[in-house]
Amino acid sequence: MNIRVYELAKKLGISSKELVAKLKDLKVEVKGHMSVIDAETAEIIETELKGATKAAPPTMAGVPSPAEPHLPVLRVDMPITVKDFAVKLQVKSGDLIKRLMKHKILASINQPLNEDVLKMIGKEFGYLIEKAPTPEESLLEVHYQKPDTSKLVPRPPVVTLMGHVDHGKTSLLDAIRQTNITDREAGGITQHIGAYEVTLGNGKITFLDTPGHEAFTAMRARGANVTDIVVLVVAADDGVMPQTIEAIDHAKAAGVSIIVSINKVDKPNANIDNVKKQLMGLGLTPEDWGGKTITVNVSAKTKQGIDTLLEMLLLEAETLELKADPTRPASGVVIESRLSKGGGPAATVLVKSGILKIGDVVVSGLYYGRIKAMLNDKGIRVREAGPSVPVEIYGLSGVPQAGEQVFVVEDEKKARDLSVSKISQKREAGLGGSFTRITLEDLYQRIKEGSVKELNLIIKSDVQGSMEALTQSLEKLSTNEVKLKVIHNGVGNINESDIMLAAASNAIVIGFHVDLEPNADVLAKEENVNVRLYHIIYEAIGDVRAAMEGLLEPQKKETFLGRAELLKVFTMSKGNVVAGCKILKGKITRGAMARVLRGGSIIHEGRIESLKHEKEDIKAAEVGLECGIVLSGFKGFETGDIIEAFQVEMMERKL
Ligand code: GDP
Repeated sequence: MNIRVYELAKKLGISSKELVAKLKDLKVEVKGHMSVIDAETAEIIETELKGATKAAPPTMAGVPSPAEPHLPVLRVDMPITVKDFAVKLQVKSGDLIKRLMKHKILASINQPLNEDVLKMIGKEFGYLIEKAPTPEESLLEVHYQKPDTSKLVPRPPVVTLMGHVDHGKTSLLDAIRQTNITDREAGGITQHIGAYEVTLGNGKITFLDTPGHEAFTAMRARGANVTDIVVLVVAADDGVMPQTIEAIDHAKAAGVSIIVSINKVDKPNANIDNVKKQLMGLGLTPEDWGGKTITVNVSAKTKQGIDTLLEMLLLEAETLELKADPTRPASGVVIESRLSKGGGPAATVLVKSGILKIGDVVVSGLYYGRIKAMLNDKGIRVREAGPSVPVEIYGLSGVPQAGEQVFVVEDEKKARDLSVSKISQKREAGLGGSFTRITLEDLYQRIKEGSVKELNLIIKSDVQGSMEALTQSLEKLSTNEVKLKVIHNGVGNINESDIMLAAASNAIVIGFHVDLEPNADVLAKEENVNVRLYHIIYEAIGDVRAAMEGLLEPQKKETFLGRAELLKVFTMSKGNVVAGCKILKGKITRGAMARVLRGGSIIHEGRIESLKHEKEDIKAAEVGLECGIVLSGFKGFETGDIIEAFQVEMMERKL
């Protein structure tokens, strides 16, 4: 039975004021002594107040104890409700609720508890709480185990080519492949499977066949960091261009090594020194100029320098000490996928560790299957593939996305069950992205939780000057708690590549006097990337600062409703001024917000107080209609003014 505050206070023998204060402590919001409390809460409060004087069980509540390792471990499926947790602990739900209240946690019996609370409370009841593995985690358990360093052996490097459009990425990939094709293979058809292997006298190199930073970052956004070395292709006749800089930022954000290949050196107008000078300006000082960046002069056309480039890649791989354990159960990453001609799903997998074999049962994303056939990059059937080797596999139950991980599992039935449950979960969740990425709104919360120590930002601006000003000002906002880092900035609209980089690096995108391209908008929604557009520098800085302090207002979203032109001004008897208007576009509704525009400037913003058509009050006026508008707090209308009505929605805070 529900009860009013004053009644409960009476029952408990305390004043209403004391009870209200107590309720506040327990985070129960009440207005005053007449407020109603539900029966469950009342009961909890009663037990709490009555039991407050009773001795707590003999545990070391809240005091971290060095004796903890001796506590028995209790594995709990998370999330778990109060009721089920009580069963696990073998205590009464009421006792658990009371214990939670001691920590000012007011939970009902069916409420799920978070991991931290479970651990704390569990300890007080004498258990070390551990999260029980999900079916997926237990199926993949072997893959989560730490690598046995004694079993690691060198593996070939995986290389991606990046650079500005037309600087020769595709031609270089072709040239590399051709120099490497043996006579026996020359007549055969080279299969495009998304990657290929090059065999040299002293080692192998795997090239990812989709050049460009978009593909690279798209994979990374899915959590797949497969590239070890980026070859930055810069045309000697053209020099560093915008996408060269983008590529550098993408590679740096991924933390991979960069080797520069200065291409098209055969061209008469090639200017290698100029390229090197530009690279220096970007923090990639060439080795022969005293820096650390390896640069190789090449020509995809004459094949000059290609051997040296390959040599350099092998050397770099040696320095990086790239290793994998071939004895582990195999795992890899999907780098391309398709429906094959025969209709079956085909996926190119780059093996990361272990040896993938025909007959293996694998899971990948939503799908599973037993590998029926494998083709290598030359289109030849193979029986197995080791670390860094790309193979196309057949036998999956569906087409997994590029970037999805592939794991070999023991139990085909469990793999199928997992796939079925994942597909139905996905259906229930709709198509929305499942990743929770950072937003300015939840920044403060994340800083407090300690889950964010660094905030990555991407800044796009209309001109170089404001881009630099904004970058500097934002980076200066860094505090001891959170470091602000601009991982990429550039001039121009926010494009898909920016969104992918943001998704891959958990960054927020800030646009200044630029637009979000339509495709990028769609992608941002899919990937849950927070994009913020500004027209005033201090607003951008103010928002970020406010977000860091937890003071950011919810974001406002404005929707255009309609536009009207002011034909005549009427002054009414009570001093009210009515704007006699004609609706030019959309519709104007009573109660909506509106702004008065004169010569392109905003004169006033206010609410539409009244809307009339020929003395009749109306709710809305549509295109073509003449109407009288009264705007709150404004009387200074002039003929020719434009009145624009809009709706303001508060975007929900994502917490
Ligand atoms: P991508 O957009 O970076 O993949 O560039 P492409 O490989 O498509 O090359 C763009 C153009 O540059 C093509 O017309 C190529 O033939 C040409 N090209 C590429 N490499 C060289 C080179 O080393 N020398 C010369 N002269 N032309 C090249």
